[in-house]
Amino acid sequence: MPDPLWFDPECCLIGGAWQAAADGRTLPLVNPSDGSEICRIARGAAADIDAAVQAAEAARAGDWGRMSALERGRILTRIGQKVLERVEGLAALEAMDVGKPLSQARADAVALARYMEFYGGAADKVMGETIPYLAGYTVYTLREPHGVTGHIVPWNYPMQIIGRSVGAALAMGNAAVLKPAEEACLTALAFGHLAREAGLPDGALNIVPGLGAEAGAALAGHPGVQHISFTGSVATGALVQAAAARNVVPVTLELGGKSPQLVFEDADIDAALPFLVNAGVQNAGQTCSASSRILVQRGIYDAVRARMAEAYAELTVGPAAEDLRVGPLISARQKEIVSGFLARGRDLAVAGQGRLVDHAPEAGAYVRPTLFADVPADHALARDEIFGPVQVLIPFETEAEAVAIANGTDYGLVASIWTRDGARQMRLARALRSGQVFINNYGAGGGVELPFGGVGKSGHGREKGFEALYGFSQLKTVAAFHG
Ligand code: NAD
Repeated sequence: MPDPLWFDPECCLIGGAWQAAADGRTLPLVNPSDGSEICRIARGAAADIDAAVQAAEAARAGDWGRMSALERGRILTRIGQKVLERVEGLAALEAMDVGKPLSQARADAVALARYMEFYGGAADKVMGETIPYLAGYTVYTLREPHGVTGHIVPWNYPMQIIGRSVGAALAMGNAAVLKPAEEACLTALAFGHLAREAGLPDGALNIVPGLGAEAGAALAGHPGVQHISFTGSVATGALVQAAAARNVVPVTLELGGKSPQLVFEDADIDAALPFLVNAGVQNAGQTCSASSRILVQRGIYDAVRARMAEAYAELTVGPAAEDLRVGPLISARQKEIVSGFLARGRDLAVAGQGRLVDHAPEAGAYVRPTLFADVPADHALARDEIFGPVQVLIPFETEAEAVAIANGTDYGLVASIWTRDGARQMRLARALRSGQVFINNYGAGGGVELPFGGVGKSGHGREKGFEALYGFSQLKTVAAFHG
């Protein structure tokens, strides 16, 4: 087994016990940097999900359900400390499993710790209110956990997505069942170990790795689950929502995007440039909030195109452990999907491309980052989520045209505006159909404090920040008549 693997990866965590899948089946886990098998993981399925939901129900009925918000918060804070102590180990696992360059994997581990600190501190600060009402009544509200929450997580940012979703759910006193992605689940399992070391009671967090169509579908449709949080593709999100609807439970869906950056002639191009490129190639473009469309006002279009092309020429691609700017994609399958999009762009002008290092293993899932120029706004490359290091440049003349193009896809997750004109900043912040809008930056460092989620096919519901705590709880109104 490779060095950083300090636990048995072939297990599910159910009711505080690490155990094989009920039917003993396993799946291979592949290192996308070289195509080698890292280890095998449990192939959990319906029976394991059922056991996990029962364990979560038992935790809710037991110590975890009775615990004060203060004590829950302390445990989450301790998990955060454990994560911080293990940042290097977690980063090594994630780099190996996801193909993420080491420094990007390290940033994810630090973000996971930060989520635990944030939600640890927030756990005892979620309050109800008293409502002035008829004479003789006292009315107040309580924020209560849903009960058992299901968390279906993708492979692109396992640690960050676990942090924002499981962290907020636990802070509110829910008991969680986590189904990590079959392509990348080592840090999810590591997180389970750290949570137990930090004193999280048995059953408060259960982890069942496995295939989407087996473990994932079983979790989404389980009648004992009272809330589902899903991050992934639109098609799977729709299946999850349909399954949840049969049990009439709420879902939070985070389904990716086609996020634009709008660059106006009065923008500070030097400040914008690193964000324009990085937002498209970070994590090899496999980021739900990646910026895959760069809309540039005509007067500076050629200059921006030239500067971005230079930046692309500097991008090196290679194995995650070498910590270059871009690693491999998650899998051979994802490489095939992205290569298909690159082929559809063969009628377009390529403005810039990154470079694959000579010694990159043949079996690694590498593609060269590619910037296309003068892309019509209705081209597939300008409308569909590619989930690879591919960006398109689209020229525009007027503010109205820029807004129409920006809002012209099915998605609406993130948008950014580069302009020094304060009135335009305010106008566009309102006009853009998007869950987050950034002004003269992109992503704002990804702060855990900032509510995040989409409109349209990017999904619904909000995670991150305090807002997530409302999503992972429900409001009860108590009206007492005392005369
Ligand atoms: P996916 O949506 O199928 O998988 C995401 C998670 O859902 C995984 O844990 C998977 O096991 C689970 N899942 C799959 N089928 C399920 C089902 N029927 N019921 C319940 N859970 C199920 O995504 P993918 O196949 O890994 O990637 C395909 C495309 O999705 C990518 O090319 C990309 O465009 C998009 N994607 C987006 C995000 C994001 O962050 N928004 C993340 C991953 C993938």
